[in-house]
Amino acid sequence: TATVIDGRVIAEEIKSGITDEVRRMKNSTRNVPGLAVIMVGQRRDSLTYVRNKIAACEEAGIKSEISNLPENCTEDQVLNALSRFHEDPSIHGILVQLPLPQHLDEGKILNSVHLEKDVDGFHPLNMGNLAMRGREPLFLPCTPKGCIELLIRSGVEIAGKRAVVIGRSNIVGLPTSLLLQRHHATVSIVHAFTRNPEQIAREADIVIAAAGVPNLVRGSWLKPGAVVIDVGTNPVEDPSCEYGYRLIGDVCYEEASRVASAITPVPGGVGPVTVAMLLLNTLESAKRAHNFT
Ligand code: NAD
Repeated sequence: TATVIDGRVIAEEIKSGITDEVRRMKNSTRNVPGLAVIMVGQRRDSLTYVRNKIAACEEAGIKSEISNLPENCTEDQVLNALSRFHEDPSIHGILVQLPLPQHLDEGKILNSVHLEKDVDGFHPLNMGNLAMRGREPLFLPCTPKGCIELLIRSGVEIAGKRAVVIGRSNIVGLPTSLLLQRHHATVSIVHAFTRNPEQIAREADIVIAAAGVPNLVRGSWLKPGAVVIDVGTNPVEDPSCEYGYRLIGDVCYEEASRVASAITPVPGGVGPVTVAMLLLNTLESAKRAHNFT
């Protein structure tokens, strides 16, 4: 059976390194990194994610601030919150928690985040730089960066391997496929229009699933020995759980763990490492702002 890639353990290792660096920066510059989160509305899943991010900041000694705007706020209110954080020198990273309510222009808002504080890496210029050879984005999006980190820290070689990314969203699938190419994998992308996804997936040494479809990837989709990173976090009803639901991945774990050589669980895989990458981006941004190496 497959080795379990333990995202919680890996995230703790990364965060402990960040905590040390934050302390070192504070001792030498009197500054700590600062993260601002803009959240619109009260979506339960978003609230949970934001709470996790803030708690992780606190643990690492990173300052954090939340601006929670009402569900029915105007675009100007969001842009005002953004400019307040842009002007605040104690804030080195700003993220706008997605998804935003329908009436707000997500593209316009993400485009307004200043490049040097775009710790989510969703600004079109950061994305464009990620896509172009010979150019370096200031920030890599956290979930894709986390997927690569999980592979590297598990000793999985990426260069020259066949990778299949399932999903092509702006926040996960697309940047993940670009990042895998930067690490010299040969990448195929499977999405909702793909015919015969199973056959394409079966050619992969590395499968990264980010479709948001519970149990989409069955054991039969995998080449024996493949490495599987399951980004999916799908709520399924479960009255026996605290909140009446639990989270499952895009990969049928039972089946996949009999075929794969290594696999991330859900929860406890990509999620914790994504948060660690956000802290890392915020730390890097602060170091850049204060000329601290
Ligand atoms: P999305 O809905 O924006 O995109 C889904 C993508 O999957 C689309 O490109 C679509 O074409 C593709 N897709 C849909 N159905 C498919 C199918 N049957 N076969 C193949 N492809 C299909 O979702 P997203 O924001 O990219 O998120 C994907 C999943 O990852 C969700 O479950 C989300 O909750 C999870 N997620 C987890 C983290 C984390 O930190 N763990 C972060 C972001 C998203």
